[in-house]
Amino acid sequence: MLKSLLLGLSRMPAVKAGVVAFPLTKRVVDRFVAGETLDDCLRVTHALAGRGLLATIDYLGEDTTTAAQADRVTDTYVELLDRLAAEGLTDRVEVSIKLSALGSMLKGGYEVALDNARVICAQAERVGTTVTVDAEDHTSTDATLRTVQTLREQYPWVAVVLQSMLYRTASDCTKQTGEGNRVRLCKGAYSEPSEVAHRAKSAVDRNYRRCATILLQGKGRPLFATHDDAMTGHALAEVARLGRDPDSFELQMLLGIRSGEQARLAGLGHTVRVYVPFGTDWYAYFMRRLAERPANVVFLLRALVERPQHRKVQSGF
Ligand SMILES: Cc1cc2nc3c(=O)[nH]c(=O)nc-3n(C[C@H](O)[C@H](O)[C@H](O)COP(=O)(O)OP(=O)(O)OC[C@H]3O[C@@H](n4cnc5c(N)ncnc54)[C@H](O)[C@@H]3O)c2cc1C
Repeated sequence: MLKSLLLGLSRMPAVKAGVVAFPLTKRVVDRFVAGETLDDCLRVTHALAGRGLLATIDYLGEDTTTAAQADRVTDTYVELLDRLAAEGLTDRVEVSIKLSALGSMLKGGYEVALDNARVICAQAERVGTTVTVDAEDHTSTDATLRTVQTLREQYPWVAVVLQSMLYRTASDCTKQTGEGNRVRLCKGAYSEPSEVAHRAKSAVDRNYRRCATILLQGKGRPLFATHDDAMTGHALAEVARLGRDPDSFELQMLLGIRSGEQARLAGLGHTVRVYVPFGTDWYAYFMRRLAERPANVVFLLRALVERPQHRKVQSGF
């Protein structure tokens, strides 16, 4: 109920204006977002690297409404990739892109987004890193899969994201088991109708386990994006059962969520990658993080009523 409400609000411009303008919201946002500038984001990325964690950086923004805006997002990624190269981070840091930020909602939509994604992939290839194409809501799944397929003709290292909440995903996973395919498996962060998606957590989790096994039985590189111990536990048990090379998969989590667990898993020798969002357009991303966990709403409300000097600094979930 609360989850649906927050996901609904994440699409409402009027609410966005109020939330973004409210100064105290920022304190909670800082927990999930690396900052507004490239420098902020690189500082956080260096700190993660110092703790043995890899990163995938997302330049926030998913409501691109003009071609100029899509170009600006593309240029920012190109600049980001240059900076990663200059700072010697490209062996540990890649980028995540959203096709909606690159223009998929404009006239000519996916062609525009594909052209912009190609520019980013070319730059990633030049500096020696990779790109993941994020999954958005189910109405974009087919077009996103097609776009990734096209990009992979030239850049086979482009990763796709599949969401276990969707009924179709086991079948999509089966199609993604080819040699070297990088596939991020997550539960799905969008509000979806029951015609296309499991609504019960138990069903989403069951499908996650099933999809994880399908990917691990294949020849690709699964990227398990979850903070759920049961999902990570299943993936690791299947890795052992199937005799998979420990370097042939990744565990991924979001910045600010279960930071201690990220470090613990990296300390055990697993490859752990943290999703690092940055930029000023944090509203929709932030609302989805609130929707995932009611306790985050309590944390927000507490920040709104506490005086700044009394606020306790928390290091993530
Ligand atoms: C690296 C990465 C990339 C992702 N990319 C995409 C994408 O491209 N498209 C997409 O739709 N979704 C994406 N997601 C989001 C994902 O779909 C889920 O919405 C999100 O990860 C919560 O699901 P969960 O697997 O952590 O399990 P849940 O069952 O939601 O949570 C398990 C436990 O994790 C902790 N937890 C989970 N979320 C939070 C939170 N927000 N705040 C605090 N604690 C939390 C809690 O302890 C919770 O009990 C991504 C997630 C990750 C980690």
